[in-house]
Amino acid sequence: MANSSIVMKFGGTSVGDAKAIERVTAIVRGRLAQRPVVVVSAMARVTDQLLQMARAAGSGDRKNALTLARELRERHYNTAGELLGTALFTQFHGDLGTEFEELEELLRGIAAVGELTPRTTDHVASFGEVLSSKLVTAALSAHGIEASLVDARDCIVTDETFTRAAPLFEDTNAKLGELVRPLLEQKLVPVMGGFIASTRAGITTTIGRGGSDFSAAIVGAGLGAEKIEIWTDVDGMMTTDPNICADARRIKVISFDEAAELAYFGAKVLHPATVLPAIQKNIPVYILNSRNPSCEGTRIAARAPHCNNFFKAIAAKKRITIVDVAAPRMLLAHGFLKSIFEAFDRHRIPVDVVSTSEVSVSLTVDSNESIPALAADLAKLADVKYEGRKAIVCLVGENLREIPGIAAHVFGELSDVKIRMISQGASEINLTFVIDEDQVPTVVQRLHGAFFDDPDPEIFA
Ligand code: ADP
Ligand code: ASP
Ligand code: MG
Repeated sequence: MANSSIVMKFGGTSVGDAKAIERVTAIVRGRLAQRPVVVVSAMARVTDQLLQMARAAGSGDRKNALTLARELRERHYNTAGELLGTALFTQFHGDLGTEFEELEELLRGIAAVGELTPRTTDHVASFGEVLSSKLVTAALSAHGIEASLVDARDCIVTDETFTRAAPLFEDTNAKLGELVRPLLEQKLVPVMGGFIASTRAGITTTIGRGGSDFSAAIVGAGLGAEKIEIWTDVDGMMTTDPNICADARRIKVISFDEAAELAYFGAKVLHPATVLPAIQKNIPVYILNSRNPSCEGTRIAARAPHCNNFFKAIAAKKRITIVDVAAPRMLLAHGFLKSIFEAFDRHRIPVDVVSTSEVSVSLTVDSNESIPALAADLAKLADVKYEGRKAIVCLVGENLREIPGIAAHVFGELSDVKIRMISQGASEINLTFVIDEDQVPTVVQRLHGAFFDDPDPEIFA
């Protein structure tokens, strides 16, 4: 296909310092014939630091906010200096400086008002990707690759749900066609920040933490790319988080559905929304390691080949709260569940796992959500209790419904563990349960030991 291109997304650690950015330039150089569009995250930890300074400013602590901003300035200047050499750095210095002045002015403004809104939070957070995209463009150019900076806020159009805005695909695709495609036609390498976007009115938004993966998929789908590469700091999607289980194996190939479940239930290596645009356009997604670029990584495709193991992977999502709603007076009343879900909907709080009995229902929500307000609302309907520090463990594999005794096998391994909720059957590919958060390492290690002691060589590396 003469007009095809690929999207290459580099995460925070892959652009975390000058050495990492140099690796990126080498990796991009190796793909020039495939006409890459490069999407980058903020440098490692920068988004956290920006949010920290926004909060400091919001609480009126101007000094702390500006000190943090100065540290960020130093880090970016040092990285640019290392990457570019004196002459180029002198040119580039002013460009970065303008961004930092704008950031500092914004922080002073927030501190003066003493209030941080979601809209200004997004504005502050956006600097991470604005800066890293400038840095990577300059580094590519300094290494003789003709790169062209695209401000993602000019192409990715979202609604106004600040901090987790949803893309408006029609507008976005039109902008990508208008602003990015011509660059590819001129044989330039477009470079843009992930995570950041703007409303139709041009106000900066972000699409949710870890959202650069999603940005890459939005761009890939919009341009009809041949593939989307997610470059990160591990060899691919693994049978479980390698930080929990040192003997986690690389999954060579996995289906979109399985990858989406894993991402949703805690496999941070991929943002859960990433697969949607890719599925719609049937674009394969690859997870690759920027520190080990010759490793073939994980291919995520429409269909995965048969696997001899029951499961492909185990994910765990911490910081979960269980909400128990018990309504003895409403025995068998129809409409009870509806009114409960309506309360969650009013507070815009998504529910992950649900289990019901005749008189009560338990639901899990992310502990970051504003649960006290929800609980007060639910208390009008029934007795409400909630309990934090829980975790969802999710085992993913194909055709689980067809395997006799699978639940007995899993829970047999955990006979001494307190299981709070269980869910299986909602999809054919997952078995999910809720435990105390501090049990995650033991539970995951034990299940991993039991189900991955003899991994199918066709599927696992
Ligand atoms: P990036 O900054 O490149 O977006 P992330 O930190 O968001 O990278 O995601 C990569 C991390 O995801 C890995 O370092 C690993 O600790 C974690 N992780 C959790 N579950 C998995 C899994 N099943 N496979 C691979 N990595 C995982
Ligand atoms: N920089 C953003 C974050 O830390 C987006 C990303 O890295 O994917 O959440
Ligand atoms: Mg990430």
